[in-house]
Amino acid sequence: MLLTKTEHMLSNKKLFLQNLSKIIGAIAAKESLLAAMGFKTSRIGVAPHIYPYVIKLFKKYNIQYVIGNYRYTYINDIGKGGWSNRFGDETHIEQSNAKGDYFLYIANSKIKAKAAKEKEENEEEFEFGETLGIPSCCAKFYVDYSKKAFKKQNDFVLFVLEKTISKPPYDFWNNYVSQYFGYSLLSFFPCSFDCPESVKISKQVFNLLDSVYPEFAKQFLYFHKQNILYTEYRGIYLFENSTLRKDSIVYKNSRIHSTIKNSSIGKTIFRCDNIIVKGKNHCTLYRGDKLVRNLIGENIALCLFN
Ligand SMILES: [Zn+2]
Repeated sequence: MLLTKTEHMLSNKKLFLQNLSKIIGAIAAKESLLAAMGFKTSRIGVAPHIYPYVIKLFKKYNIQYVIGNYRYTYINDIGKGGWSNRFGDETHIEQSNAKGDYFLYIANSKIKAKAAKEKEENEEEFEFGETLGIPSCCAKFYVDYSKKAFKKQNDFVLFVLEKTISKPPYDFWNNYVSQYFGYSLLSFFPCSFDCPESVKISKQVFNLLDSVYPEFAKQFLYFHKQNILYTEYRGIYLFENSTLRKDSIVYKNSRIHSTIKNSSIGKTIFRCDNIIVKGKNHCTLYRGDKLVRNLIGENIALCLFN
């Protein structure tokens, strides 16, 4: 079989993943590899201080990419550990006052990378979504809920859960919420935690990563299988190795990961050891059998995958 230039240069894909994830994190490294292997096209934001290192690695491994015409700053979401779902300023890269992240469009050919860039810069959002490999049901969901999401912080987790019909634990392949903790096989919001199309993609991505670098793939899957308490403004909490039994999450021996420091919910979580799940947006926190706090409201989402 004839290998394309990219495939040949990527014969050491594992090394590429290892080196790149050290600089830019596991998610962006995964996105770069998937694109270079022709699974999809990807767009990654690269902060100026790491930009030269990323470009150097891309050149070394002969990754096919183009640089976007604009740089972007972000408006950080409140309580999500520096994660952002909204853009701030947009400046042309040649402007003297240009600031923010560079956008790199990556594919298995320069032509495809360039086409993706042009689609995004021409605001052909749906077409751009297609090049990113987003299933049409999930792309439609994104469009349908964009106004509602924008009223908050442009995050769709609350709506993904709202649209989920099955009972928890949900299909862990669809856990996109684990992205806040550095790992998610998906690169888009599924239209619900039940979506079969995104499950299919998540499994394909896992298999691909597994064939290249099994430990890396397993780390992603490990995060997919965790229970997460999402709040829109007051932090996101992951209960490592907790399990949902009947309606109760026992997390006595769990390591708790949080995207926020010194939040009142966080303090309560650390004081308690189990949670009774009363609904998608309602739970009560207990220390032993003593009720400590009731959490309820549209900005609370119990994303349960184990
Ligand atoms: Zn879908």
